[in-house]
Amino acid sequence: MTRKKVSEPCCFKADYWYLYNLIRYCMPKPKTIFDSIRTVILTYMLLLVFGGFLSACRSNHAVQVAADYVSASDVRPASYAGNMPRFKALLYYSDQVEEAHRQFASQAIEFFHRLTYGEGWILDVSSRLEDSAALGQYNLIIMPNAAPETSEERALFEEYMENGGGWLGFHGAGYNDLSTGWDWFHDFMGGVRFLCNNWPPQPALVDIEGHDHAITRNLPDQYVAPATEFYQWQPDPRSNPDIRILVSLSPRNFPLGLKDIVFGGDFPVVWSNTRYRMVYINMGHGDECFSDATQNLLFVNALRYVASTAPQGNPFHDDDTK
Ligand code: ZN
Repeated sequence: MTRKKVSEPCCFKADYWYLYNLIRYCMPKPKTIFDSIRTVILTYMLLLVFGGFLSACRSNHAVQVAADYVSASDVRPASYAGNMPRFKALLYYSDQVEEAHRQFASQAIEFFHRLTYGEGWILDVSSRLEDSAALGQYNLIIMPNAAPETSEERALFEEYMENGGGWLGFHGAGYNDLSTGWDWFHDFMGGVRFLCNNWPPQPALVDIEGHDHAITRNLPDQYVAPATEFYQWQPDPRSNPDIRILVSLSPRNFPLGLKDIVFGGDFPVVWSNTRYRMVYINMGHGDECFSDATQNLLFVNALRYVASTAPQGNPFHDDDTK
């Protein structure tokens, strides 16, 4: 942001000219050369007094106008060097899932990779979780389409999260039902299980629930999310006091769906379990989820939020931890 140049509201020369003529008009007509000299001297003195007054008024006006703008030099400047890359993240995906979830993972890899341009942070991509020492180097794990299924990887993920790890999970990565057989993950998601979904995938109006969170503060009150499959959960995630709901499906969407129809009910789609460094985002089915700028901003905000809450310290050095 730069300070706006404050232009003079009017021309000084014009002011002096008007004042000069006004004084001449008010003075008696000169009869001798001494009358003329006296008039010139008096005019000059009045010009000095009124000129000073006008200048003072102008400078006050300029200060008042400039006060509406914040100079870039008055805030902390952008940092271009030092402590780069700021953090490392691991994108863990599965190619053993349905086609639409593989599509989303493929696009997610490209989307997040682009955000590393300039090497502000590092993104590793893998379909396996290695040992705990390897996981410990990551500020967060992004899971675009699946959570671990083997007991070894589940144990590694639990240990990672219970020791301050970060998680940004999308769509199928949060899916769990009675057949999943992973109580810790069920609790991690807020004690909720999949209940139902709309079908086919379609766009839907979503409500941003407040702007007092780092993820939502620069988002509009509502936007139309690109086509995806929305999961509804039971019990309602909102009933868990540890869950902070950030985005939900607007009731104006109901009935939602053509084959499988959701008729109503509370429908959170983005939330955080505040007992962990985690954000779950329900979007993530098919190849349209990165087609909307508002939703892309939500994704970036969520990444930045999780990264900023690392126990080792906020890599962005700002107060982004609401
Ligand atoms: Zn899906």
